[in-house]
Amino acid sequence: MADYDVIVVGCGPAGLMACGELAKRGVKVLGVDKSPDLGRNTRTASGYCFVNQPFNNCVIRTEEKPEENRTYMHFDSLGFSTYYTGIMQGVYHSYMFSDTGKWWRASTTKKPFYNLFNPGQCKADRYEWAQKKGAEFLTETMALRVEQSDKEVRLTVRTNGKNRVLTCKKMIASDGLSSRMAKVSGANKSRQFFGKGPTIEYEMVGVDMPYDRGDCFFFGAKNFGGMAGGLIMVPSPIAEDAYRLETISVLPASTGEAIIEHFTKKGPFSKWFKKAKIVDKSGAMVEMLTPMLDPAYGNILFVGDSAAWLECLYQSATMAGYMGAVCIEEELEGKKGFAHYKKFWEDHFEWVKNPVRMADYMKRVMFPRFFSVKELDFLFDLSQKYPIVMEEAEATPYDFTTMVMQQFIAMDEVPDDLKDRMRMVITADMGVLSQLIGQVQKS
Ligand SMILES: Cc1cc2nc3c(=O)[nH]c(=O)nc-3n(C[C@H](O)[C@H](O)[C@H](O)COP(=O)(O)OP(=O)(O)OC[C@H]3O[C@@H](n4cnc5c(N)ncnc54)[C@H](O)[C@@H]3O)c2cc1C
Repeated sequence: MADYDVIVVGCGPAGLMACGELAKRGVKVLGVDKSPDLGRNTRTASGYCFVNQPFNNCVIRTEEKPEENRTYMHFDSLGFSTYYTGIMQGVYHSYMFSDTGKWWRASTTKKPFYNLFNPGQCKADRYEWAQKKGAEFLTETMALRVEQSDKEVRLTVRTNGKNRVLTCKKMIASDGLSSRMAKVSGANKSRQFFGKGPTIEYEMVGVDMPYDRGDCFFFGAKNFGGMAGGLIMVPSPIAEDAYRLETISVLPASTGEAIIEHFTKKGPFSKWFKKAKIVDKSGAMVEMLTPMLDPAYGNILFVGDSAAWLECLYQSATMAGYMGAVCIEEELEGKKGFAHYKKFWEDHFEWVKNPVRMADYMKRVMFPRFFSVKELDFLFDLSQKYPIVMEEAEATPYDFTTMVMQQFIAMDEVPDDLKDRMRMVITADMGVLSQLIGQVQKS
C-alpha cells in the first residue's frame, strides 16, 4: 500500500494550494520541499499581480475585508477563493529610460496597470491555511529521483543527508521552473530549450526617484558600464520610497551583480541611490523551455511553473495548484482527471496552443533589440509631446508591447518604415526573437 494518496513535490504557491485543497477534500497528502520555511519567499519575485482584469483567461475578483485584515481573491470562473493578508497597491505609471536618459511614460487614471503584492506574505498565508486543513509537510527535503508503475509512484528524497523512498498513488510535481522532477522523469523530452539567464534583485529603501511612482525599465550600455543587459525597477509596497531592482542579463551569473552594482553606484541614474539602502537581496536563474502540451506524465501531474513557459506568476500558479488538486482527486476516484487538467491548462495558458504568446511575454524586455538608440529617443520625445494617458490599459506582460506599439502607430509623426517595424514587433514569434538575441550575442 502506498504511503500517501498524493505527494506534492515543491511547495511554492502552486504546491501549497494543491496540498491545502487536497487535505480539505480528505485526501492523504504530503508536501515535500527543500526549503526550511515554507512561509517565506527567498527567490526573486517583483510583486506584480493582475487582479480585476483578465490574466491567463481568469479574472480574479478582489474583496477587501479590513475587519478581518484580509483581501479575498475570488477565482469565480473556477469556483474557489483564497485570502491574502498583505498590502495590495495599484501602480498607475510605467516608464522606460533609454541609453541617453530620455524617457517614455504611460499612465492610467481610473484603473491601475496592475497591483503590487507581497509574495512572502502570500506564501505565508497559503502555508498557514494548508496546515489548518490538515496537510502534512516534509521540509528541508530534496526530491532526487522518481520512478513509476501503473499503480504507484516511488519518490527518492534526501533529508539531513539520508535518502529514503516514499510512495504514493499519484504525484503532483510543482517544483517550479527548471523542474528536476520533469528532467528525471523524462517529461521534458519533447520541450524545446531556448536558453537561460540569471537575475539579481536588490530591494532598496530611500530611493530618490524624481517622477511619479511607477515601474521603470532601463536599457542601454551606458547604464551598465558597457555590459549587455537591462534592469527593471518596480515599486515595493514596503515604503513609498522603496523599489525592487532586478537585472536581466546573460550568463555568467556574476553579470547580474556587476550590472546592478554599476547601475546604482556609477551609472547615470546613480544619484537616485545616493541615500538608498539595500534591505533584501535575492536571485534566480530563469530557464526558458517551451511549455508541456500535456502536463500529465504517467501518474505524475506537472502543475505551475514546472510545466510552463517562463512563469505562471503567483496568481496563476495558485489557480493551477487548485485545479491540480481537483483533477488528481478525480483520478483517484477513477475519473478522467488528467484529461480535465489538460483542458484547463490549454484553455487558460495561451502559449500552450499559440506559440506567439511565448514571444509576446518577452517583448517588453527586448525594446533595445527592436529599435536603435536614435529611434527610441525619437519615440520617447514624441511621448513627452503627446503624453500617453488612458483611463485603463491592457498592460499585462502579454499585451504591454502591443499597447505601446499601437500608441506609436497612431502618431502621425512616426515615419512609415518605423510603423512597419512596429507591426512586425506585434506579430513576431519566437523564431524572430531568437534571431535578434543571436545577432546581439554574436556582435
Ligand atoms: C525574476 C523573477 C521575477 C518574478 N516576478 C513575479 C511577480 O512580480 N509576480 C508574480 O506573481 N510572480 C513573479 N515571478 C514568478 C513566480 O515566482 C512564479 O511564477 C511562481 O512562484 C510559480 O509558482 P510554483 O509554485 O509553480 O513554483 P515555485 O514558486 O518556483 O515553487 C517551487 C518550489 O519547489 C521547491 N523545489 C524545487 N525543486 C525541489 C526539489 N528537487 N525537491 C524539493 N523541493 C523542490 C522550491 O523550494 C519551491 O518552494 C517572478 C519570478 C522570477 C524568477
